[in-house]
Amino acid sequence: MSEQNRRLVLAQRPTGMVDDTIVRLETEDAPEAKTGQAVVRVTHLSIDPTIRTWMDDAPGYLPPIEIGAVVRSGGLGTVVSSQNDDFPVGATVFGMLGWQDYALLDGTPGEGQVVPDGMDPTAVLSVFGVTGMTAYFGLLDIGEPKEGATVVVSGAAGATGSVVGQIAKIKGAANVVGIAGSDEKCAWLVDELGFDAAINYKTENVAKRLHELCPEGIDIYFDNVGGEILDAALGQLAMKGRVVCCGAISAYNDREASPGLQNYFTLITKRARMEGFLILDYVDRFGEAQGELFGWVLEGKLKHAVHVVEGLEHAPDGLNLLFTGGNTGKVIVEL
Ligand code: NAP
Repeated sequence: MSEQNRRLVLAQRPTGMVDDTIVRLETEDAPEAKTGQAVVRVTHLSIDPTIRTWMDDAPGYLPPIEIGAVVRSGGLGTVVSSQNDDFPVGATVFGMLGWQDYALLDGTPGEGQVVPDGMDPTAVLSVFGVTGMTAYFGLLDIGEPKEGATVVVSGAAGATGSVVGQIAKIKGAANVVGIAGSDEKCAWLVDELGFDAAINYKTENVAKRLHELCPEGIDIYFDNVGGEILDAALGQLAMKGRVVCCGAISAYNDREASPGLQNYFTLITKRARMEGFLILDYVDRFGEAQGELFGWVLEGKLKHAVHVVEGLEHAPDGLNLLFTGGNTGKVIVEL
C-alpha cells in the first residue's frame, strides 16, 4: 500500500476562529514524483496570521484559498523522492508546502528553496525566515531608525515584534517600548530581550502609558495590530515620526468595521509618514538580512522564542493562538 497523505483542507470560510467545521482532515494517497517533480515530507509548518486572511473570500496580495484546497502555509520538509535535480532526495526544502504530510513540487520557479544542512529548522522558520526578514526590512527600510530613537512596537512578544525591538536596540535606539497582552510577556520583553519598557494593553491605558514612557514622542511605531493601539501610537508621534504598517491582526478575525482613527491628523501636524510594506517585495535582499541576523544570534545579541505545537491535526489550534495571544514568539507546528 502506498503512503497516505493527511491534508487539512478549507471546508468553509471562517467568520472568527478556525475549528474543524472550517478546516477538514482528509486522507489520500501520497503523491509520486514524475518528470521534473519532487515529493517533500513536511516536517514543520510556519503558522502566520496571514493564513487567516487567505481563508477569507477577499482581495489580498495572494488569491483566497479555494474551498476544498489544502490550507496554504509556509513549511519545511525533506525531499523523499525526486525527478528534479534542484531538489535531490534528502535535501531540506522551504516552500509553500501547505497543511499536509506530503507536498508535491512540480518545478515551478521559486516554489522551493533548499536550506543548508545543519540549520535548526525552528530558526529557519523564525528568525532566519520570513519572520526575521519582516522585522529587519520593516524596521530598517521603512522605519529608518536613527541613533537615540524612540521606537514602539505592538505585538511585541510575538514572532515579528520580539525581533523588531531587539534590532532597534542593536541599531542604537535609546528607548524601545513593547506593547503586549500579559504581564508575563511584558516582563519577558524587559528582563530577557532588553526592551526599555513594556505596556500590557489589556490592563493599562495605552495612550496614557505611551505619553509617560515616550515624553519626547515616538520616532518609529512598528504596527503589528492596527485598531485602537495604532490610534494611541499616532497620538504620541514625534516630529517626522514614521509608522511602519506591518500588520493589523486586531482586524483579521473581526467581521465588524472598526471605527476610524481619531488621531490621524497627527500625521499632518507632526509631518509624519505612515507606510505599509510586504516582505514578498524583499526576497532578492533576504541574503543581506540573513547574514546580519545570523551574526547577531551568534554573538548572543538577538534571541528568538519558538512556540511549538505538535501534530498536523493541531495546526488550526496553532493559528488560533495568534489571535488569543497564547503564543510567545514564533508558532511552529511539528509534524
Ligand atoms: P505574532 O506576533 O507571533 O502573533 C500575533 C500576536 O498578536 C499574538 O501573539 C497576540 O499577542 C497579538 N494580538 C492578537 N490579537 C490582538 C489584538 N486584537 N490586539 C493586539 N494584539 C493582538 O505573529 P507574527 O507572525 O509575528 O505577525 C505579526 C504581524 O505581522 C501580523 O499582523 C502579521 O499579519 C504581520 N506580518 C506582516 C508581514 C508583511 O509582509 N507585511 C509579514 C509577516 C507578518 P498579545 O498577547 O500581545 O495580544
